[in-house]
Amino acid sequence: MTLPRPRVAILGGGPGGYEAALVASQLGAEITVIDEDGLGGACVLTDCVPSKTLIESSSTMTSLGRAASLGLQLADGGNPVLGVDAPALYTRIKALAADQSNDIAEHLAAEGIRIIQARGRLAGGPLGSPHTIDADGELVQADAVLIATGASPRALPDGAADGERILTCRQIYDLPELPEELIVVGSGVTGAEFASAFQALGSQVTLVSSRERVLPHEDKDAAVVIEGVFRRRGMNVLGKSRAESVRRKGDGVVVTLADGREVTGSHCLLTVGMAPCTTGIGLAEAGVHLDARGFIEVDRVSRTSVPGVYAAGDCTGVLMLASVAAMQGRIAMWHALGESVHPIRLSHVASTIFTDPEIASVGVSQATVDRGEVPARVVKLPLATNPRAKMGGFRDGFVKIFARPGTGLVLGGVVVAPRASELILPLSIAIEQNLSVEQIAHTFSIYPSLSGSVTEAARTVMEFGTDAIA
Ligand SMILES: Cc1cc2nc3c(=O)[nH]c(=O)nc-3n(C[C@H](O)[C@H](O)[C@H](O)COP(=O)(O)OP(=O)(O)OC[C@H]3O[C@@H](n4cnc5c(N)ncnc54)[C@H](O)[C@@H]3O)c2cc1C
Repeated sequence: MTLPRPRVAILGGGPGGYEAALVASQLGAEITVIDEDGLGGACVLTDCVPSKTLIESSSTMTSLGRAASLGLQLADGGNPVLGVDAPALYTRIKALAADQSNDIAEHLAAEGIRIIQARGRLAGGPLGSPHTIDADGELVQADAVLIATGASPRALPDGAADGERILTCRQIYDLPELPEELIVVGSGVTGAEFASAFQALGSQVTLVSSRERVLPHEDKDAAVVIEGVFRRRGMNVLGKSRAESVRRKGDGVVVTLADGREVTGSHCLLTVGMAPCTTGIGLAEAGVHLDARGFIEVDRVSRTSVPGVYAAGDCTGVLMLASVAAMQGRIAMWHALGESVHPIRLSHVASTIFTDPEIASVGVSQATVDRGEVPARVVKLPLATNPRAKMGGFRDGFVKIFARPGTGLVLGGVVVAPRASELILPLSIAIEQNLSVEQIAHTFSIYPSLSGSVTEAARTVMEFGTDAIA
């Protein structure tokens, strides 16, 4: 006798949803994914993929801008030949995102996963069971349900985005041109990334930060480096400046700060955080608990307060990263379908801020070490002494390693460098596999390479002894 296949219904087709669907498929479940916008979700269509594609272009622009210092000429006679074709740039970004979304849809379809393009909601309460999703009228019944509806950009209380001059990060690729004078409100990760990219592409950027420095939640040394680079490249960084409102004025915008000052520009980009997409989808009626900010409460195996209903990704507010959403989704399926499963370990999550240079970090932070919560020895090696960095003309950045006193186990690290997103991997592996600085120090790195700074930083910890460095 063959047992019936377990049925899984997934609301939301971003990384939290589609990665879960692939795991459930491997485990033999019958899966339906309900998504209203497109597979890959906001991650692929409007957020992560488009912004990183934009940043590939802006980084190339920065590299080309160094041409003269590398002995190259980038001019035709006296005329510079480097410029931005904004419509072509935005078209490429949107085409690449659509293509990636199609690839994911094809992959899911090839696995036999059913995809319904519709807005869905839990048909709980008097309507039915929390294990039924109402997809625009079609009822999808399941044994386990995963909610992965993501989050959407917040606006200022006094300053709604209009998609023309006042923009969220999802509207910028529909502009007909490059913003001439872009005011970026918010200096967290998204604000810093867009400010960095548009300054490099040629916009005059003003970055409005309510805090003393940009990237207030990140490694302080890294934030200081980035703010220095921003200012040196001509960005107007306004610290301790809370934006109260934004309005259109003629062909431009005016941002009013809490102290009454006004900042004018051609466009304003709002990067003031993300709100969970958890309203109007039947969660309260089904008994799914939300926290005070509207995020779905989950445990470390993605269970919500309702048995058989799981949640993953930005709608849980755990850590708003595609990699975390995907892992939460996979864990939910392993758990729901009876596989052995390890609760998510957030202390091992590596993340990158794609400014130029990039900031990548993993493991314990400088702030936790400074607060005395984790005893650690810290070494910070400037990138400027690395031979490969000198060859490329990179002078900003460092490699920092946190090691456990005595054992020398790697506890964390921060890399500020071009492609730091790639350079962080050895430190991530070290943390995941309980490796010591000694083991990293004894590993061959390429000469000359930026990754040579990782092994050198590990050697430096050893040189001074893991007990001796403060
Ligand atoms: C500008 C920007 C850049 C970013 N860059 C990075 C990065 O470089 N690296 C990184 O790791 N993370 C990045 N992130 C974060 C990353 O995009 C999110 O963490 C990720 O998208 C979360 O995935 P998710 O599956 O939770 O939701 P999403 O990707 O938001 O997908 C949710 C899906 O659910 C659908 N949906 C919602 N409600 C319903 C409903 N009721 N019915 C049907 N469908 C519904 C939506 O249409 C959407 O398709 C970035 C975010 C932003 C804003």
